Amino acid sequence: MTTAVREVSVFGDAIAYFNDAADLLELDGGMRRILTNPSRQIIFSIPFQRDTGEFEVYTGYRVQFSFARGPAKGGIRYHPGVTLDEVTALAFWMTWKCAVVDLPFGGGKGGVTCDPTQLSMNEVERITRRYAAELVEVVGPDKDVPAPDVNTTPQVMAWFMDTYSMHVRQNMPGVVTGKPLEIGGSRGRTEATGRGVTICALDEMAEIGLRPEQTSIAIQGFGNVGKYAAKLFEDRGCKVVGISDVTGAYYNDEGIYVSGAMEHVAKHGTLEGFKGGDKITNAELLTSECDVLVPAALEKVFTPETAANVKAKLIVEGANGPTTPEADRIFKERGITVIPDIMANAGGVTVSYFEWAQDRAGYFWKESEVNQRLEDFLLTNLHEIRGIANSRHATLRTAAYTLAIDRVVKALKLRGIYA
Ligand code: GLU
Repeated sequence: MTTAVREVSVFGDAIAYFNDAADLLELDGGMRRILTNPSRQIIFSIPFQRDTGEFEVYTGYRVQFSFARGPAKGGIRYHPGVTLDEVTALAFWMTWKCAVVDLPFGGGKGGVTCDPTQLSMNEVERITRRYAAELVEVVGPDKDVPAPDVNTTPQVMAWFMDTYSMHVRQNMPGVVTGKPLEIGGSRGRTEATGRGVTICALDEMAEIGLRPEQTSIAIQGFGNVGKYAAKLFEDRGCKVVGISDVTGAYYNDEGIYVSGAMEHVAKHGTLEGFKGGDKITNAELLTSECDVLVPAALEKVFTPETAANVKAKLIVEGANGPTTPEADRIFKERGITVIPDIMANAGGVTVSYFEWAQDRAGYFWKESEVNQRLEDFLLTNLHEIRGIANSRHATLRTAAYTLAIDRVVKALKLRGIYA
């Protein structure tokens, strides 16, 4: 398996955003060094047998960036583009994401460099079990709690939880979140990231005077984040004019019928052949006519060229790291508001926190309770970020990092450096 080569490091982009806020906080060099070095990076081989009988070896990663505020927390990604650099950046972002919504977690992320579209269910199960077995000593409800990310599902979490539980000889639902309901999952977890995106978007829309029924939305990505965000925007009266997945993008200025698109994907696996909109390219979708744009796929989709042509007034980052720092500067100059990833897509990890808490208590909440608490966590912190942005004349992104870094620094100072 060849790993993707990126021209510019994703972690480098993440550090640039960190530094903007660190400057505002006047953080000294020592503290910056502590906060930008991962606590632990683990790389290991995953040998497994293909259904054909052949042996294959993939590379697995887990980066535990920070434990300052609690156990490491963050998803596991199965994708051909997974590299140590990417997983490190994603673990770094998880640190700030958990802090920005005030969850008692540090930051972590994992991944396997593989192409799940070329693997059978049985092969994915074998890879997952070996991945989990390699991490038995370093994960656990009080150590590091993985979750789903790109191409990993509740079923993958079930296999991870089962493998870990078999090794430690007791049932341990709290070792991962995003599990199926039957084995300790939380109601509302599957839709939580998309729900969080819409909660943040609607709040910001009210702030800039966009009424839902007059607002058009384009969403890049129709996976676990994009499709639920699309559905919830539609439920709130917004017009979803564009959607996309790996097969291309679909645009309809009259509005796309989101449930129809979801049914199409449930039946055919992708949006290929979807008739509810004109087929355009993914690049065209990003610069299409719309009020709100939601990137909900992978990193680095907004380059300076794309950013200069974006027509939306508001960008809500459902994906992690979709905007390069150069593109971000252009959005700022053009007066386009960006709700940054660490805030906009924090709904997923927030309900992961609820799941972890429910597993530990052995007592499960109603979906309405989950959704209400999710809204409270997100809006309380979004409003705090807005206050910082206004008083410090900063973007919402720098304000979010400022709030998050300040919380992590306070925890670190209270704990002290053990040497
Ligand atoms: N993978 C998701 C994220 O990037 C969820 C992480 C979690 O629930 O721990 O935020």
